[in-house]
This record gives sequence, structure tokens and C-alpha cells, in this order.
Amino acid sequence: MFNKILVANRGEIALRVIRAAHELGIKAVAVYSEADRLAPHVLAADEAYLIGPAPSAQSYLRADVLIEVAKQCGAEAIHPGYGFLSERAPFIQAVRDAGLVFIGPSPEAVTAMGDKTAARSRMIDAGVPVVPGTKEALADAAEARRVAGEIGYPVLLKAAAGGGGKGMRVVRGEDEIERAFDAAGNEAQAAFGDRAVYIEKYLEGPRHIEIQLLADRHGNTLHLGERECSIQRRHQKLIEEAPSAVLTPEERQAMGQMAVAAARAVNYEGAGTVECLYQNGAFYFLEMNTRIQVEHPVTELVTGIDLVQWQIRVAAGEALPFTQEQIGWEGHAIECRITSEDPYNSFLPSTGRIRNLVVPTGPGVRWDGGIVPGVEVGLFYDPMLAKLIVHAPTRIEAIDRMKRALLELRVEGVDTAVPFHLRVMDEPDFRAGTIDIKYLDTHDLLSAEADDASVRVAALAAALLEEERRTQRGVSRVQASSSPAGGFGGSAWKRAGMGWRGR
Ligand code: ADP
Repeated sequence: MFNKILVANRGEIALRVIRAAHELGIKAVAVYSEADRLAPHVLAADEAYLIGPAPSAQSYLRADVLIEVAKQCGAEAIHPGYGFLSERAPFIQAVRDAGLVFIGPSPEAVTAMGDKTAARSRMIDAGVPVVPGTKEALADAAEARRVAGEIGYPVLLKAAAGGGGKGMRVVRGEDEIERAFDAAGNEAQAAFGDRAVYIEKYLEGPRHIEIQLLADRHGNTLHLGERECSIQRRHQKLIEEAPSAVLTPEERQAMGQMAVAAARAVNYEGAGTVECLYQNGAFYFLEMNTRIQVEHPVTELVTGIDLVQWQIRVAAGEALPFTQEQIGWEGHAIECRITSEDPYNSFLPSTGRIRNLVVPTGPGVRWDGGIVPGVEVGLFYDPMLAKLIVHAPTRIEAIDRMKRALLELRVEGVDTAVPFHLRVMDEPDFRAGTIDIKYLDTHDLLSAEADDASVRVAALAAALLEEERRTQRGVSRVQASSSPAGGFGGSAWKRAGMGWRGR
């Protein structure tokens, strides 16, 4: 096992990796930009090194600097987290060339899955079902028009180098195809430095269901079941859960086997995820993410398997000690991404200093956060501040627990997506499990905010607590106030008060 590892990331995922390392008795080294001097991952690490100014191109993306720091401080391995350099094959190669271990898959596996068209071809050869479309990038707009005509509208133009929903365009008719081809190419060029675009049939309202994998170098490739990630905005996930409300045990097994076949096709090692679209019992391979994902905690909570610890142990050469048959799933887990975005204003990024933070606790609640009071939230990095994750025996109990936890949470200083999450937890289709990737387009969740008791209570409680803080009166007055939202609101008030006092 390693003695010391360097964590080449920031925010909640850096903290998550540091915690996993510490539990394994490994020293953790943090790196940070000038904007992150006060960040919690810096304080949690055993050593921390300043690697450059705030823009990530000059800090977290500086492969040469990161490798140099790792060598200087005597770290034996680098954990990349997600984003930044996590899926860059040349970085992985450079880490290896420096005599260090990259905690993740081989550069060959990352390359094979990194180009979406190449990955699709490989999957087709491995007998894995993919969404109908081209195997290669389109040469020009004329080809796009011809192929779209053959597949039939609507179609989806996608960046071959894509990720995070960028470079994607839905095209509903022939008159839009050429303009969309140019726009998708430009966006792909700007985001990934590669304008290659390919085409897929656009499925109307499928679910996004993905399979978590864990593989070692001793021939064990196992799946840990699925995550349902259909609640998305502009192809970006907002809420994830495990298990999916719809998958039968047979479908889980079939998807799991498909994902294992996909991973084996590239000799995959470490933790990875095969993303699929699912519709009426059929599923299609979308892509494989060759890294730990944001939403990994929901799988950890239902399987009891620590994915980040296993990433590290597998990279150190250990074999997975359990078989596919020994992996089981218990209860239901849900994750809400707590982003610094204003849901009432088209999810516009919100910036400012975190003035106060009250983190929910209690049974079945997990907080993977990257903020503390005093931290400045700017525009340099991803707006995801933290993840709130809950686990309960059943899906409905998990939803109600999430609602309770969201009401306890206070983030003062920036706007967050919390009011949106509260609305979803109360929305009947979500509660019934009737969701798909068009959920946000088909549900008007934010305009009628005034009608929603829990959101209103949360907003009023926050305002009142702020007022209390300013005037320095005790919390007892808050609790004594009459509730504007009836019986339910009454207990929410009380909880809000307790949360404040227990801060
Ligand atoms: P990225 O790598 O940019 O995240 P993905 O291929 O993983 O792109 O797709 C992201 C999301 O876009 C999916 O979760 C789904 O909501 C939507 N999507 C992708 N392909 C299709 C398709 N063929 N039809 C309908 N929706 C799609």
C-alpha cells in the first residue's frame, strides 16, 4: 500500500479522496490555487502546496507542476478526482513516466473510451447495443443532412470529444441541420479543442441509467448496480438515486453484464461508469466515464462498498475480495447537487462569500461538501459546492429524509439550488418514480414557488434567522413565532431554529 498520495483536485472530491486515504492510513497531499488558500481540502490534508493562480489552466490543469510536486514531496501516487486531468491520457502517461502510480485506468483505456465515436465502434464490435447513429465523425454539413435523413428526425449532434453536455444539439427538421452542425462544431472546438461531431437518433424522453464498475488487475470486473440520473438540466445531472425505480432484477443483471463486457473490452482497471439511455425495457450504451463520478456516493450507500478506497487499493495492486454474487443492495439513496446557482433565475451562477453554513446531520444523512464559512465562491470553478446524500429503507422514506435534510441546510452568502430540490421532493411524478430526462421541460417547478409550503417555509425561516442574527436575539423567539404554513411548517420552523442553535 502507498504511504503518501497527492490529490490533484479541489473542492468536495479532493476532500473525499483525502478522507479515503486517511482511513487507509495513507498521508494525503493537497494542491491549491491562489483562490483556494482557505479551502477545506487544504486544511484536511497532511501537506498542501500552492500550484498557481486561480484560473485552472494555470493551476489544477498544470500536469508538469503536479507531477513535480508529487515527486518533491515523496508521494507515490496521484489521485485525479473527476474533471480537470482525470480523463487525459497524456497526463496519465506522464505520471507513469515519472515513476508514479496513477490512481485510475491505463492511458489506453482512457483513450479508447475518450473519443465517443471510437468507443461506439468498439462497443458495436463487442456486441453492446448503442443508440442508432454514425460510427464516425461527420465530414461536413452535407453529410450531416444525408445521415439525418436516413436515421429520421429528431436527431442529436454530439461532440466526439464531448462531456458535460457540451457540443450537443437536438435537430428536429432538415431546415435546422446545417446551422446546428456549425454551432455544435464551434461549441466542441471551444470546449474540447476538437470540432469533430457525430450524429445519433434523438430518443424522446428516455431515462439516464448508468452502471458502476470496479475492476482490478487480477481479472475481476464487477458491477455495483445502477444509478438513475434522469433529473437533468441541459443534459447535466442535478439529482441521482440508487436503485432506479423501474429496473427489474433481470434488467439490472443484463445491464450489469453489458457494462462488464464494455469494461473488459478495454482491459479496464479501477472505478468506472457505463452510461446508458433506457426506454421501455431497452437500453443503449452512451459512453464510459473512466473516473470516479460525482454521484458515486449513492452507490456506496446502497452497497456498503467504499468506491474511493477501492480505487486506491486496486491501484496499489490489491485484488477485489468479493465476488459479483456477494454484492447486494440495501435500501434507497438519493443525492442532490448543491450548486451555487439561482434556480429562480435560469440557474444563473451566484457568487459571494459563504457567511454561514449549517450542515444537516442525523440518521441516514451524508454531506460531501467543499465549502466552509469564509470561503469565496467565484466563477473560476464548477458551481457545485457540495452534495447532500441520504439513505433510507425505501424510496419514499429517502425522499422524505432528503426533504428534512434540505430544510435543515443553511448556506448563507450565495444562492443555491436548494429551493429547486425541495420542489422536486414534493412533486407527485418524482415521488411516484415517473421521471425521464425531459422531466424539467415537462414540469413547471419554479414559477409557482409561492404555492409551495416547504420552499416558502425554508425561505421565510432563512430570512428570519438572518434577522435574528443581525439583532442578536435568541432563537427561542424564532421557535415561538407562528408558522405561515400550517402544521407541517410548524415543525420546519422548529427544526430551522434547532439547526441554527446547534451550528
Ligand atoms: P456528455 O458526455 O456531454 O455528458 P452524454 O452522451 O453522456 O454526453 O449525454 C448526456 C445526456 O444527454 C444524457 O444523460 C441524456 O440526457 C442526453 N442524451 C444523450 N444522447 C441522447 C440521445 N441519443 N437521445 C436523447 N437524449 C440523449
